Amino acid sequence: MLTLSVIVPCFNEEAVIQEFYRRTKEVLNSMNDVDSFIVFINDGSRDNTRFILNHIADQDNKVRVIHFSRNFGHQPAVTAGMNNCTTDLAVIIDADLQDPPELIPQLVATHLKEEASVVYCVRKERKGETAFKKFTAKMFYKLMNRMSEVEFPRDTGDFRLVDRKAIAAFNRLKEKGKYIRGLITWIGFKQIPFYYDRDARFAGETKYPLKKMLTFAKTALLYFSKKPLKLSIGLGSLAFFIGIVYALWVWLGYLFGFTSAITGWASTVMLIIFFGGVQLLTIGVLGQYIGVLFDEVKSRPEYIIDDKINFED
Ligand code: UDP
Ligand code: MG
Repeated sequence: MLTLSVIVPCFNEEAVIQEFYRRTKEVLNSMNDVDSFIVFINDGSRDNTRFILNHIADQDNKVRVIHFSRNFGHQPAVTAGMNNCTTDLAVIIDADLQDPPELIPQLVATHLKEEASVVYCVRKERKGETAFKKFTAKMFYKLMNRMSEVEFPRDTGDFRLVDRKAIAAFNRLKEKGKYIRGLITWIGFKQIPFYYDRDARFAGETKYPLKKMLTFAKTALLYFSKKPLKLSIGLGSLAFFIGIVYALWVWLGYLFGFTSAITGWASTVMLIIFFGGVQLLTIGVLGQYIGVLFDEVKSRPEYIIDDKINFED
């Protein structure tokens, strides 16, 4: 029989977990020919999430729980789900019911029919999101596709089905900073889109404040693009070119008497500011990449597990 894990990262989701479990369980029960598990990853929640999950896992041995030792973030939580996945298929889904679990049977059916390793869900509509979130998301995906060496599908989050081949390939990736939707695109195999309408959050509020969103965007950009470094070279070359032209201007002006560069205090200051700016900017870009290298070289684990419940081992 086909086996399936539903991977659910949870951070302070006490308001939605019961309802998520109820709706998802109903869907999974309706799929007679699939043996399924729900794998909750409690990403260091500080509310009642831990207690609620333990209670559910106590009643239902098809519910597996991984508790992290603290909050490591959404992407490490999903990674832990993938690393601990023993089934043929996995569906990555958010706990807040923005991605309807009722679509899972259709994802499985699409996977079987198309023989696709990855079925990624593309949002047609996003209900209950602020205009700011939609706008920044749009700009982000546009920027990513311009900067990156890989072409990413637009309007696609982590909500997707992956098969054993894709899971195994993903689990071989060694980098610690993970932009999961990008990496799953990168691994290849047959990948097909599945269009759906995204709902509003069932309860509670977003666990992605602006700061986390920016960190997420930065990881995506730094891990998938070297273009900022190339842009630095471009900027440096431009500054160099301006310097040469200016030097010629001063020299010829001195020869033919159309400039008096010696009195040029303003132009000197302007040049110092300009070149200083270019240098700082370039060093800053370089610094971001060195920071990433530093993190990767330290090679700390992406997450620390406190407890695992209902796993066979
Ligand atoms: N999440 C997590 N760790 C975090 C932040 C979020 O595990 O540090 C989970 C969260 O519980 C949810 C999913 O990631 O299941 C997506 O978060 P959220 O719905 O708050 O993000 P949004 O949909 O607002 O972008
Ligand atoms: Mg959400």
